[in-house]
Amino acid sequence: KEEEDTRPMKDWILVQNSELRLEVQNDNSVDIQLLFGVAEIFGTEMAKNMRYTISNQAKIAIFTDISCTIRILGSPDIAYVSTDTPMHIYRNTHFALEHLRRTAQQNDTFGPKVMVCGPTDVGKSTLCRLLSNYAVRSGHQPILVDIDVGQSDISIPGSIGVLPIERPAGIEENEFLKPGSLVYHYGHNNPASNLKFYDTLVSKTFEMYQERCKENPTNKYSGCIINTCGWIDGSGYKCLLHCAKVYEVDAVLVLDHERLCIDFQRDLPKTTSIIRLPKSGGTVVRGREFRKNHRNNVVREYFYGKKGSLSLFPFSFEVPFSEVSVYKIGAPEVPESCLPIGATAEDGNTQLVPVEINKDLVNRIVSLSMATSLEENVVSCSSAGFLCITAVNTDAETITVLSPAPSPLPRKFLLLSDIEFVDFK
Ligand code: ATP
Repeated sequence: KEEEDTRPMKDWILVQNSELRLEVQNDNSVDIQLLFGVAEIFGTEMAKNMRYTISNQAKIAIFTDISCTIRILGSPDIAYVSTDTPMHIYRNTHFALEHLRRTAQQNDTFGPKVMVCGPTDVGKSTLCRLLSNYAVRSGHQPILVDIDVGQSDISIPGSIGVLPIERPAGIEENEFLKPGSLVYHYGHNNPASNLKFYDTLVSKTFEMYQERCKENPTNKYSGCIINTCGWIDGSGYKCLLHCAKVYEVDAVLVLDHERLCIDFQRDLPKTTSIIRLPKSGGTVVRGREFRKNHRNNVVREYFYGKKGSLSLFPFSFEVPFSEVSVYKIGAPEVPESCLPIGATAEDGNTQLVPVEINKDLVNRIVSLSMATSLEENVVSCSSAGFLCITAVNTDAETITVLSPAPSPLPRKFLLLSDIEFVDFK
């Protein structure tokens, strides 16, 4: 097969503690192969001679702590080697967490609860991935909690997820709705849209984390790693504080932001370690347009699988209005004077509000709540999955949905989100 590949080929020799940084843009893709030595990508080891395809506008670093030779087939948009990497600091952070995990196991207590914070594009998700991968490679199973509703690593935008990590992440792709993940509908791609509801869901993830720790001591001793949003000012900071307090985090890892460290030192208990870590020079800043496209790609991958691979085959079918009930979470604001006695304006933020089914719902993503009746707390119930409403026929009183699973829908409560997706196939 290799003889047939007419793309340019280049072998890169990496010395100890260096990394090869690669970027592929738009529809470009390259194959990478480890020929000699040892290498890893954000904590996932590369297998020798195996070919990995890097596509989907990926930006990665191939790191070696010994030395290695990497073959690249194709023309990456950016490729360079750097010896200036903070990997040894990230690794030391992992060793410190390892020590806490072992102590937790010996004393039957909770393993380290760590929150990763910092402004946008400083490598928060990458550090979470690295620490999770190192943890599983050392025999632990930490829980990844992703409260970054704009760029979630566990599910589609607008959701908050909890995922027990049982194996290192794949090199080629992000797998969405990974087996074992618990996903909650938030419905917006930033916490500012409904702060009260956001905080409620963060508290809910903590309950689920505790449940999981009760069931599985390995999770309990391994601790959790919380990936957060890059909104660190004003109310964004308050959301971070809320999360740190609810989880009673043992450590906050702050990437590249001195003031945020000082704020946390002032506002969190002295028992919480606030650790400032440098950002990697390889971290790529992604513009507003890139983020928007990325979110759209993530939704497309949820339904269709990885671009070009056609690995998933979604279903499209009609559902009568009578078989579903659509709600959104959060009532429009009402002046305090008009509220019933004892109610506060904030209560409306977590209220379930019925939504009329009409053409406005076309191209909107809805989540299918696991709730079977309104007596259950639909607002903080986990999601069974997501659908895209592709058409609404008010005469026939049916909606057409794009769904990862065939008809019929297993549940009837649909929660409307702000997230839009146009299904071009
Ligand atoms: P957000 O603000 O969206 O939460 P973030 O702080 O979580 O962003 P990442 O998503 O971890 O940042 O990193 C931003 C981009 O930089 C990603 O595409 C990631 O793959 C890339 N990146 C991170 N570290 C490196 C590196 N050492 N070399 C090359 N690319 C990197």
